[in-house]
Amino acid sequence: MSTDTQDLVIAGSGVSGLSAAVYAARADLDPLVLEGDEPGGQLTLTTDVENYLGFPEGVGGMELVQRGKEQAKQFGAEFQHGGIEAADLDGHPLELSLSTGETIRTRALVVATGASARWVGADGEDELMGYGLSTCATCDGAFHRGDDVLVVGGGDSAMEEALFLAKFADSVTVLHRREELRASEIMVDRVREHDDIEFAWNTELLAIDGSPDEGVTGARIASHPDGYPKERHEDGTDVAVEEVDVSGVFYAIGHEPNTAFLRDTPVELDDSGYVQTARADDAWATTETVVDGVFAAGDVMDPDYQQAVTAAGMGSMAALDAEEWIESSASVPAESAEPIPTEAGD
Ligand code: NAP
Repeated sequence: MSTDTQDLVIAGSGVSGLSAAVYAARADLDPLVLEGDEPGGQLTLTTDVENYLGFPEGVGGMELVQRGKEQAKQFGAEFQHGGIEAADLDGHPLELSLSTGETIRTRALVVATGASARWVGADGEDELMGYGLSTCATCDGAFHRGDDVLVVGGGDSAMEEALFLAKFADSVTVLHRREELRASEIMVDRVREHDDIEFAWNTELLAIDGSPDEGVTGARIASHPDGYPKERHEDGTDVAVEEVDVSGVFYAIGHEPNTAFLRDTPVELDDSGYVQTARADDAWATTETVVDGVFAAGDVMDPDYQQAVTAAGMGSMAALDAEEWIESSASVPAESAEPIPTEAGD
């Protein structure tokens, strides 16, 4: 166990955390980047990224994060495996308890733990994610020119994804498990008015067919006049099952911000669990949370844009904000003499 207090810990190694790490390392803050269960974040679920500035030929999602990691390491950022399970942010230094059993002390923290897209639980999704199955139409829609595609969901995201995909695809079918949409009226009207988008009501996805080589080749969908057909199918109720020819499937059933470790801390979260930064009630954009020395960047505080390039931008903002805070908080000790006992006892 280390008895040192870090100047800056960056929680999360997606594009936002990596960008924060590059900026913080170049500012000689020796940041420690904690990599949780999904190292590299959402981009690692995407094959090609064509809308990240500076890559006219596109770049693999995995390659982009690996290169970002190399870049951060080159300037002195350290990486350590371990998700944060609990955080004591009531005093300084801040204390982070990791899944590895270790406790880490730090003066400042950038929360860049992202938001994980919800998955449907259909057969084949693990194998095909990134190979025709996607959670981001903005990222992957352009690969489906002339294709027939499915969008799963009934909220604003599903409407937005369907409208975006309709620019490329021949046909877009929105599968919704009920007959009433959760999406706002204006978005629903736009979708209804679009000739290439149709709805499949009371319908859910059971399985996606294909392989990483061929991509998605089809899907099996279930429908029941009373809705929620998947549940009924699992209960043994007679549910209509149909095979459809599609080359792309897009999940748009919401995201879960990775903020469980912040629930019992003074950091403010909104009703969906996203970190509230000063941005929410201030015209001046900042990554500061209500806790001194705790900053947030990327999808964990941004339910709206959730793009690699916006997350990277916010990561750099968080590092600059943290740097300024560290420099101006002379009263916070840089080193702690008190060792913290850990579960591992080391
Ligand atoms: P959301 O509003 O929570 O909608 C999720 C949709 O997915 C719901 O229709 C839900 O069905 C369905 N769903 C959930 N779990 C499912 C499952 N296991 N299988 C099948 N369907 C499932 O999420 P969102 O659309 O991502 O929107 C999140 C927030 O961001 C909302 O406040 C939204 O207004 C906002 N947003 C705004 C815009 C915009 O204004 N341009 C764009 C995107 C998002 P049920 O309805 O049956 O529960």
